[in-house]
Amino acid sequence: MISIQGKGVSTGVAIGPLYYYQRAKSTIRRYEVADPDAEWARFKAAQEKAIAQLGELAEKAREEAGDEAALLFETHQMMAEDMEYEEAIQTAIQENKLNAEAAVTDTAAQFADMFAAMDDPYFQARSADVKDVSGRIIAALTGVAQGGIDSPVPVILAADDLAPSETVQLDKSKILGFVTEGGSGSSHTAILARTMGIPAIIGVGNQLKPEYEGREVIIDGSTGSVVVEADADTRAHLLKKMEEQKRQRELLEKLKGQPNVTLDGQSIKVFCNIGSPDDVAAVLSNDAGGVGLFRSEFLYLNCDDYPSEDYQFEAYKKALSDMNGREVVIRTLDIGADKQIGYFNMPHEENPALGNRALRICLNRPEIFHTQLRALYRASAYGRLGIMFPMVTSVWEVKEARKMCEQVKAELTKEGIPFSDDVEIGIMIETPAAVLMSDRLAKVVDFFSCGTNDLTQYTLACDRQNADLGRFYNPHHPAVLRALKMVCDNAHKNGVWVGICGELGADLALTETFLSIGIDELSVSPRAVLPLRQKIREINVSQIKEKVLADLLSDENTI
Ligand code: PEP
Ligand code: MG
Repeated sequence: MISIQGKGVSTGVAIGPLYYYQRAKSTIRRYEVADPDAEWARFKAAQEKAIAQLGELAEKAREEAGDEAALLFETHQMMAEDMEYEEAIQTAIQENKLNAEAAVTDTAAQFADMFAAMDDPYFQARSADVKDVSGRIIAALTGVAQGGIDSPVPVILAADDLAPSETVQLDKSKILGFVTEGGSGSSHTAILARTMGIPAIIGVGNQLKPEYEGREVIIDGSTGSVVVEADADTRAHLLKKMEEQKRQRELLEKLKGQPNVTLDGQSIKVFCNIGSPDDVAAVLSNDAGGVGLFRSEFLYLNCDDYPSEDYQFEAYKKALSDMNGREVVIRTLDIGADKQIGYFNMPHEENPALGNRALRICLNRPEIFHTQLRALYRASAYGRLGIMFPMVTSVWEVKEARKMCEQVKAELTKEGIPFSDDVEIGIMIETPAAVLMSDRLAKVVDFFSCGTNDLTQYTLACDRQNADLGRFYNPHHPAVLRALKMVCDNAHKNGVWVGICGELGADLALTETFLSIGIDELSVSPRAVLPLRQKIREINVSQIKEKVLADLLSDENTI
């Protein structure tokens, strides 16, 4: 038995074979082939395999998101057998006697550069496509699956670290749990694991070794322990814990249909954070009142090119109609920082967390924002939509964004396309500037939602991605809690509601504080809804409020 200790970031016990995440190999071997005809046949077989895979992906996309989504994969199919592309590869193999992997790599680079140099943004974007298609052919040649899980059974997935774009593209039905060498608890990969309700452990360093692949592993997301080939006692203990957790969940089931109300009658909304319309099923099965944060950027991360208006419209419409009249707050694109997307072609930044991200990108590149806002307003006809802007620091940004909303509404009216007139507009409070300006910002919005993951990062000047800063990144810091109180007071003075959609919302050690300062809504991962409801129903706010508020502002509470 081998015991490894990491940090649990998503609770639950999981058992299964260990599987290492397959990332495409970046170094391609280059050599002269003795039999170019045989090498050409190798290429043709790999090309055929890639085309078949793309066909399957197109079908899957069609079923899940409609014809438009399938089109991308169909375009990739056509690219894979494009005559000029194929001829260039053939020349490299048959005339220059190059091995197929190197021939595809060279041709991909040549075509990608040619597309990138074109003036038309449509053709520029094809540069990423040709690389993607070529990567798939190379994966078929080398036998290394591209960023996938090539296992017939569900696995405990191990990786050095996973980027959000890699995590969203994984086949969730194949994953029992995550273990990563690096990572931090407030990274988007950890957040995604919680949203999916999958146990996850980060920061195991080099204790986990590739030679453990295929062996049985048990992970415990509440303690951060990873056990490879557990002995009989440990195995029995952990399986018992798994059973116990299952029983706890069953007990919590009884809370379904009950209100989120304290012993002395104070109500609070409990909503969910989601990353895709598919997560709505978990929102409903956990009986949440609505969606408090739909991270729309995960749609973009899941695409190889800018998602079209129709593609986005279908996704938002699905979330809204599946929620059946319950509010769905969709956050506009929040990329940048740790969420990088190749096809945005963003220039390198020294400090991406302080850089061109979120609403800043939308205001700098209004054509992208415009497409998203049109999709959002069109979808608003199918449910109760709230639109929320991330990373706000100034009133002018909100005014400019709202102006674009008005412009989109005017366009839709002119085109006779229906939309709701009752869309709430809110902002994330996740920068110290937004906290300090919350009295003014409250005058230009309908609601605030506090993004405590970033608010902690920016208030404490502490990178949320940096695992070495663990004890410095403290969302319980009085500076963060006082900021929340200030935001609440300013919101309520102006008749604006205020929620928390950062991970702190699910922290049961702070539920009393949130109720005492008057937070109106907590938006958490689906699995956290019922434990939070249970906690709320045990609290008597009038009995604890005075002390909680006094502690918050006390001289002692300086950390
Ligand atoms: C936050 O910053 O708290 C938040 C909810 O947004 P994200 O984690 O996606 O940055
Ligand atoms: Mg944020």
